[in-house]
Amino acid sequence: MEPKQSFFQKNPSLHRPVNGNSMNGAVNSPDARGITVAYSKALKSQIMIRLDELEKQNEKLKDIIEQHKNEIADIIAANKKYISVLAHDLKSPFSTIYGVLGMLKDCIHEGNYEKMEEYIDIASSSSLNTTNLIENILAWTQTQRFEKQFNPTRISLAKLVGQEIESSKLAVKLKNISLSHSIPQRFMVRADLHMSKSIIRNLITNAIKFTNQGGNITISAKEVNPFIEIMVKDDGIGISPKDQQKIFNKDPLKAVSGSKNVKSKGLGLMLCREFVILNGGILWVESQPGKGSSFIFTLPSYE
Ligand code: ADP
Repeated sequence: MEPKQSFFQKNPSLHRPVNGNSMNGAVNSPDARGITVAYSKALKSQIMIRLDELEKQNEKLKDIIEQHKNEIADIIAANKKYISVLAHDLKSPFSTIYGVLGMLKDCIHEGNYEKMEEYIDIASSSSLNTTNLIENILAWTQTQRFEKQFNPTRISLAKLVGQEIESSKLAVKLKNISLSHSIPQRFMVRADLHMSKSIIRNLITNAIKFTNQGGNITISAKEVNPFIEIMVKDDGIGISPKDQQKIFNKDPLKAVSGSKNVKSKGLGLMLCREFVILNGGILWVESQPGKGSSFIFTLPSYE
């Protein structure tokens, strides 16, 4: 790097003539005064140019600060809205649990054990949904803060799906739904365990949520080298082509709405797609309103 030069070094012709000539006594000669005036003028114009540059830089910095201020204000407003929406989403399962606990108390007084079991199941299911929502919120905040560790390992797909089906037993029982898988034991994927669990859990939870009483949900997989393609298929309410475009919305604020008039759209599918992509796969939906939906995603096979 070149050493920094002073103004006088950059402009040798303007180097202090006063000092330069003081040895021979020509300081006050008309020539010397002329040079000094020229020097002052040049210095002044250099200073003016520099001031001008600084002012322009200052303006640019002001614009940048203003832009950042607006961005921060937007983030704060978005977070406030997001928190209120989440509070709304959390409130409803807690209200259910609270209500059910009151009814349980009545059942105890009446000795109605059959009803008691039913209410306990409803309360448990509500708590499970809330846990799922909280897990999704945590997973989402981690991805936003780049904290989510991506740690791909060898995963047995049949084992993983089997475990998630087991955890959904209660919700399935409450709706009298049939939930099963036909994944061969030999199917191994190379993926992050937490993310894979989250993807399957969300797709199963949705399938249960949007399938009518007595419906069917099947999970299957096939090899599509070098991937394994997994399908979670239900015969529930289905999704219109228009809604299929919106459900993977990346913006959680657009995806979630606590308003009474707008159907709540949580973080689930957005997270699923993000996790599938992070693992090197793709996720899509095939659905017909009234007939059911198939959520299909790929994960790399474990070689
Ligand atoms: P949430 O289920 O909390 O609304 P998701 O992101 O998981 O959030 O799903 C977004 C939307 O996609 C749902 O609100 C629903 O309209 C639609 N959806 C998801 N899965 C299914 C499904 N299996 N059948 C019908 N609609 C579904």
